[in-house]
Amino acid sequence: MVQGVGFRPYVYSLAARHSLAGFVRNQAGRVVIEVEGEPPSLDRFLAELPARLPPLATIEHVSWVRQPPRGDHRFHIEASEATGSGSVFISPDVATCRECLAELFDPGDRRFGYPFLNCTNCGPRLTIIIRAPYDRSRTTMAGFVMCAACRAEYDDPSNRRFHAQPTACPACGPRLRLLDPTGEPVSTPDPLASFGQALLAGKIGAVKGLGGYHLVCDARGSAAVAELRRRKHRDEKPFAVMVPDLTVVGSLCEVGPVERALLLSPSAPIVLLRKGTFSPIANEVAPRNPWLGVMLPYTPLHHLLLRAVGGVPLVMTSGNRSDEPIAYRDDAVEQLAGIADLFLTHNRPIHVRCDDSVTRVVDGVELPVRRSRGYAPRPIPLPFDCPRPILSVGGQFKATFAIGRDRHAFLSHHLGDLDHYDAYRAFEQDVTLYEQLVGISPEWIVCDLHPDYATSRYAREHSVRSRKPILSVQHHHAHMASCMAENGLTETVIGVTFDGTGYGTDGAIWGGEFLVGNYRWSRRAAHLRYVGMPGSERAIREPWRMAAAHLADANVGFGLLEARCLQDELAVLRKMLDRWINTPPTSSAGRLFDAVAALAGVRDRVTYEGQAAAELEGLAAGVPPDTSYPFELGEEWEGEPPESVLIVDTRPLVRAVARDVAAGVSTARIARRFHSTLVDLIASVCGRLRETTGLGVVALSGGVFLNALLTSEVCMRLGRDGFRVYRHRLVPPNDGGLSLGQLAVAAARDG
Ligand code: ZN
Ligand code: ZN
Ligand code: FE
Repeated sequence: MVQGVGFRPYVYSLAARHSLAGFVRNQAGRVVIEVEGEPPSLDRFLAELPARLPPLATIEHVSWVRQPPRGDHRFHIEASEATGSGSVFISPDVATCRECLAELFDPGDRRFGYPFLNCTNCGPRLTIIIRAPYDRSRTTMAGFVMCAACRAEYDDPSNRRFHAQPTACPACGPRLRLLDPTGEPVSTPDPLASFGQALLAGKIGAVKGLGGYHLVCDARGSAAVAELRRRKHRDEKPFAVMVPDLTVVGSLCEVGPVERALLLSPSAPIVLLRKGTFSPIANEVAPRNPWLGVMLPYTPLHHLLLRAVGGVPLVMTSGNRSDEPIAYRDDAVEQLAGIADLFLTHNRPIHVRCDDSVTRVVDGVELPVRRSRGYAPRPIPLPFDCPRPILSVGGQFKATFAIGRDRHAFLSHHLGDLDHYDAYRAFEQDVTLYEQLVGISPEWIVCDLHPDYATSRYAREHSVRSRKPILSVQHHHAHMASCMAENGLTETVIGVTFDGTGYGTDGAIWGGEFLVGNYRWSRRAAHLRYVGMPGSERAIREPWRMAAAHLADANVGFGLLEARCLQDELAVLRKMLDRWINTPPTSSAGRLFDAVAALAGVRDRVTYEGQAAAELEGLAAGVPPDTSYPFELGEEWEGEPPESVLIVDTRPLVRAVARDVAAGVSTARIARRFHSTLVDLIASVCGRLRETTGLGVVALSGGVFLNALLTSEVCMRLGRDGFRVYRHRLVPPNDGGLSLGQLAVAAARDG
């Protein structure tokens, strides 16, 4: 990554230090340097080049040749070339660097208190770029004409702002504005101070950030947070908070060294941290959740805002109504009408909408939840070659796409749930943008097997229109391949892919799958026993339905549910289950979590995806393990031609949970035993598969493996059993990582 990261000035100063003449030039995805001078100086130049890189630059490979000297006397930086092919690495958006921060709070600096200062080491990148190559004229900064002082810095190779495309100052750059809920400017000498005061008075604000608007309020005020939930139609899904510094983080949450490093990193993600015992944060911020999503300020505007509120923690949640895509344009006032009391906005357009990234740390290693701002579009290295450029379009939810070429997968930022037309439009536009940014025109296209995913439809239409071949990859095969690819695996593995929903080759809803295979092929070697999903999608929102389905399957009466459900509702459900009416079969592990959560009395209905499982995890983490529940492994012949498949019989488990509930065992204890059961279950199935296949490598993937407790214990147990175990560290285990897996499968089949 050598463009937009201060690489050319770095080369310039290195050449100057060794008295070398010549030039440096961006050329497609590379930097080309010619230097001439004394041989020892040339050697030193070559040796030092990769050694002291600017913070955001990375070099993958240096190659060089000797040439006859041209007789140059000075070293110069040549302008970017717009032509040429090859992968161009565009930098993600970067959190404000230390030097810029010092200027921001230095009363003697000409950028003192200026919310849009940045330099070659920090600032907006992906979110402002319109076209490659990365130059100011092709960003949303094009409309701002640099003042003489900024221009001089921009042209001075020894300056930190040399060719800093988004550079700006109070004289020439973007400006803040405060708007009332109707979009009328509020006249105030200091928009930031007025906005801060309103927040401290309990108001809800909207602030335009790097990749879109945030909704903001004082995180200590229950009333404000509850009101924000009401207006946003977001019942319980946790909000993230932004706090001024690590000291404050430490006063709210438990923070380990890896978490600290992530918070302070240039990517500045939201990090999920365990809440401390005493916390001024209102309960409504993350109700019934032992974790809190925390981030540090990552733009000068955020730093100033936190100062304006005296360092009080602020709720910072995506600026949208329930699950719509976040507002990012000037129409935010309409989109957020009725939610925000006032808007702190500015006139630097956002070109690419980009949500905050979310991550957590398990066993000292990052486990990404959402890979977006600050990470995308940095490529993921591949352990194999993409013979031809590929576009993989991912799934329907937590959508990402990926473009593969050579040994890189350019994984997009998070595009959200494509049910929303606006999100789908953004998906289409961003595919085109990325193709242009990385200078790749994909020759074929890969999608999920699910015929009704918006991305699958896109792939079909695109393939017909452009006559590009299309390949569909089974959901869980893509999950497994995604984990393999980011870990550089090329051998055949056992893939444990546990998630909520994925379209199976038999038309059933899969999600508790043990696959055996590699990139090219996979075989379903074992899975959880099918049960009905009464009401289909409704069963996802109402875990009590899954509890009833599992009780019916295990031949246990509905007695446990009778106290909480209507008799006739249960009677209807019974009929649906008996006759498989609107009741698709599923092997989903996510639904098993739901069933156990409902049985244990944790919750009967969820208001966001994965809520029941997250609460079970939270409860389980609070008690030490004791026993686990029984299950059985059976064998069946499935598929065409028929193959032997292990079936994990969950009925003994469900009966045991029901017995515990009846005996008054605490929900936390039941949650704990259920987690231990899953660890046992995964270990014994992997053990059996090792016996029959001889395979000793396991890849863990699927959204269930966002569960830190489960992931950690499964890794430990399988490791102890002599397996080599791999899990996600670079891309999320959930459907946000599907596109990478699809890409890997396609590349392997192509090669
Ligand atoms: Zn900076
Ligand atoms: Zn200026
Ligand atoms: Fe999935």
